[in-house]
Amino acid sequence: MAGVIVYSANPELALELITVARLINDKVVALSINDDQLAQALSQAGAQAIKITHPDLVVADTAAVAAAIKQVLDGVQADVVLLSSDRRGKELAGRLAQVMGAGCLTDVAALEVKEGQIECQRNALGGATIAVQCIEGPQLIAIRPRSYPAAGTAAGSLEEMAVEIKASGVKVLEFKAKVGDKVDIEAAETLVAVGQGLSDEGQLAGVQDLAAKLGGEVACSKPVATDKKWLSEERIIGLSGKKCKPQLALLLGISGQVQFTVGIRDAKVIVAVNTDENAAINYMADYIMQADLHQVVQELKQKL
Ligand SMILES: Cc1cc2nc3c(=O)[nH]c(=O)nc-3n(C[C@H](O)[C@H](O)[C@H](O)COP(=O)(O)OP(=O)(O)OC[C@H]3O[C@@H](n4cnc5c(N)ncnc54)[C@H](O)[C@@H]3O)c2cc1C
Repeated sequence: MAGVIVYSANPELALELITVARLINDKVVALSINDDQLAQALSQAGAQAIKITHPDLVVADTAAVAAAIKQVLDGVQADVVLLSSDRRGKELAGRLAQVMGAGCLTDVAALEVKEGQIECQRNALGGATIAVQCIEGPQLIAIRPRSYPAAGTAAGSLEEMAVEIKASGVKVLEFKAKVGDKVDIEAAETLVAVGQGLSDEGQLAGVQDLAAKLGGEVACSKPVATDKKWLSEERIIGLSGKKCKPQLALLLGISGQVQFTVGIRDAKVIVAVNTDENAAINYMADYIMQADLHQVVQELKQKL
């Protein structure tokens, strides 16, 4: 089967890609860019690690990274490149596929080699179904983060490779650590999720109190985070967010569009609170409360 190259600047995701690559071929070439620590970690996970070196190459400049990886590809027998389907990985995927002349699939949740072909599974029709797709010829496949476990320890090798790149149009002025929301809604046993039925941001405090009383976390539908910006994107459930399997999901003012439900359909018990008796979410809920969510939040808080 085809030789495989993997690349992600994120160590956790790079090790995940090695696991995926081994489904295709035991011989895995794993790249790092100007990063000694990552190169070491890759070789200690059993890969043939190549540290690409160039003083002006920055991982944020995906055009330059694509040009650098192409130079490695020209010297290594590989016709499959695996990237991580995070934001930067998706941007790099398009650019690298273009310079490789390869077919490209992003957001791949699982893959399998069947009769010499790599079959990739991805959500289709907004998450309503799973499509199985294959690429002919050189292939670039971006894997949805955290779909596979990280590779364990094994003996690998490490070498350096200098590349030549054009002077970059990107100038890095400063690196700042992302001050993110550290919540892990995928690990929560109880989720209290709010949707656009919540009347205003001020009502969030009550929802947070209720979640705390239930020993759970607050989550949300996508517009609550991306349009209203009331909660962080780490808390989005669904196709563009997290796939959650809590024991209890209390859904407040969420209509139940398929892009949302794909992330909560594996919950053990779903309670939907909605003023609309015909809301789509009611068709998958175990318990339905046709009620004003603000009143339900107040009453539940008093009872608990
Ligand atoms: C490519 C793509 C990806 C997407 N990915 C995601 C994703 O990952 N996650 C996601 O959530 N969405 C996603 N969406 C958006 C999705 O299609 C829906 O638009 C979104 O889920 C709707 O959010 P909502 O249910 O909060 O809002 P709405 O659809 O506006 O529903 C609000 C609900 O609140 C109810 N309501 C109103 N007032 C009250 C009240 N006082 N008490 C109780 N109920 C009340 C209403 O009856 C209604 O059912 C995606 C869309 C696209 C195109």
